[in-house]
Amino acid sequence: MTSGFKLASIASKFMPREKSMVKPRNAGMMLEVDDLVVSYGAIKALKGISFGIAKGEIVSFIGANGAGKSTLLNSIASIVEKSAGSVFFEGRNITHSKTNDIVKSGICLVPEGRRVFADLTVDENLDMGAYTIDDKKVIDARKEEMFSIFEILKARREQKAATLSGGEQQMLAIARALMSSPRLILLDEPGLGLAPLMVEAIFRIISDISKKNDVTILLVEQNAKMALKASTRAFVMESGNIVLEGSGDELLKSEKVRKAYLGE
Ligand code: ATP
Repeated sequence: MTSGFKLASIASKFMPREKSMVKPRNAGMMLEVDDLVVSYGAIKALKGISFGIAKGEIVSFIGANGAGKSTLLNSIASIVEKSAGSVFFEGRNITHSKTNDIVKSGICLVPEGRRVFADLTVDENLDMGAYTIDDKKVIDARKEEMFSIFEILKARREQKAATLSGGEQQMLAIARALMSSPRLILLDEPGLGLAPLMVEAIFRIISDISKKNDVTILLVEQNAKMALKASTRAFVMESGNIVLEGSGDELLKSEKVRKAYLGE
C-alpha cells in the first residue's frame, strides 16, 4: 500500500514558496519545521526539511547512520545552529531561541547515549530535571509520578546513576526529562545499545507516557522496527532529506523500508 506515502522531497520542489512568506507550511501543528538547513562547515547535514507534528502524536524519524537524525533534534533544541529555515512551537517562533528558553517553553531533549549525571543518585538526577520548578512539593509529587511509571528507579533511588544498567539509565534519562512536564519530548535513539527485551520495555513506556501524560513525542531511531511499531507517523531520512512519510503501519509494509531498514 503506497497511497499514504508522500515523496516529501518531490512535493517540496513543487510547493509555491515566496521568500517573504512568514507562515510555515505546517501551520496549526504543535511543531512546525520549515525548510530547515544545517551545515557543519562544508557538510550539509540537513538539506531543507519540512514537516509538522500534531499534539498527541508519536512521530519517528528512521534512517541510516549519518542521515541527519540527531542533527534534526539538536537543531530544533538549538544545540546546533540552523543555517536556514524556521521552527515554530505552539505557534511561537523558536528558530533563534536559546536552548534554555526552549526547555522553559515546554520542549525537552533526551540526547543520544543516555547522558545522566553519573556521580549523582537517581533522586538527584530527577532533581536536576526539575531545575525550572521552584516548588519542592511539586517536585516531590512529580518524582512520585516518575517512580510509579519507572518502578525500577524507585528501588534504585539512592543509587548513583553510574551503577545503573544501560536500560535503567535510559529510563532515568526519560524520567529526568519528564520532571519538567514537557509537552513535547525529543528522544534521540532511545533503543541504542540496549538488549531487545529492554528496547521493547522502553518503547512500551514511551507509548504509555504519550497516552497517560499527554506528551507529544518526536523520536529518532535506528531500530526501525520498534520505532515504526510505536509511532503514529514516521519519516524516512536519507542524506539530510526526508524521502518517505507514512503511518508506522504503512512504512512497516513498505518494500523499500523492509529491504533498506528492516533487513528483510
Ligand atoms: P547516527 O544514527 O549515526 O547518529 P544520524 O542520522 O543521527 O546518524 P547525524 O549525527 O545527524 O546523523 O549526522 C549527519 C551528518 O552530519 C553526518 O555526515 C555526520 O558526519 C555530520 N556531523 C554530525 N555532527 C557533526 C559535527 N559536529 N561536525 C561535523 N560533522 C558532523
